[in-house]
Amino acid sequence: MSRYTRDQVKAMTRDEYESAICNELNAAGFRSEFQGKYFEYEPDEFVFGGAIAFDPNAVNYLKQIGLIDNGKCPMCSEREEDLQYKLQNQNNGAVYHVCKSCYKKYAQHERAKRGCCSCLVIIVIIALLIWGIVKLMN
Ligand SMILES: [Zn+2]
Repeated sequence: MSRYTRDQVKAMTRDEYESAICNELNAAGFRSEFQGKYFEYEPDEFVFGGAIAFDPNAVNYLKQIGLIDNGKCPMCSEREEDLQYKLQNQNNGAVYHVCKSCYKKYAQHERAKRGCCSCLVIIVIIALLIWGIVKLMN
């Protein structure tokens, strides 16, 4: 099933890699959706993170043919040997592997979001405590 070997993917330039991703998706009938309209994928440096990562079927298709999770980071097209940096799209659960620096960028983003959530939880707990104390005193 895999059409691209790891060595082939690694040897691609950034342009070749982005073009290969878009050409394969377009040929297989995948389209990016924007405001209810459908467009062919156009290769640019943000196409993966900006559009493709939001379609779990497209992500799975790219895995099947060997274009992602196969030696290159789809976010920045940098060579990536190590597949321990796993990202999951928050909207649809699509999972793919990226390079260390893209992982760090994204993980920081996630940590900031989580930090915000735990802050809210603490505020709610404090508010409930104050409300309880006020009720006790009345
Ligand atoms: Zn990267």
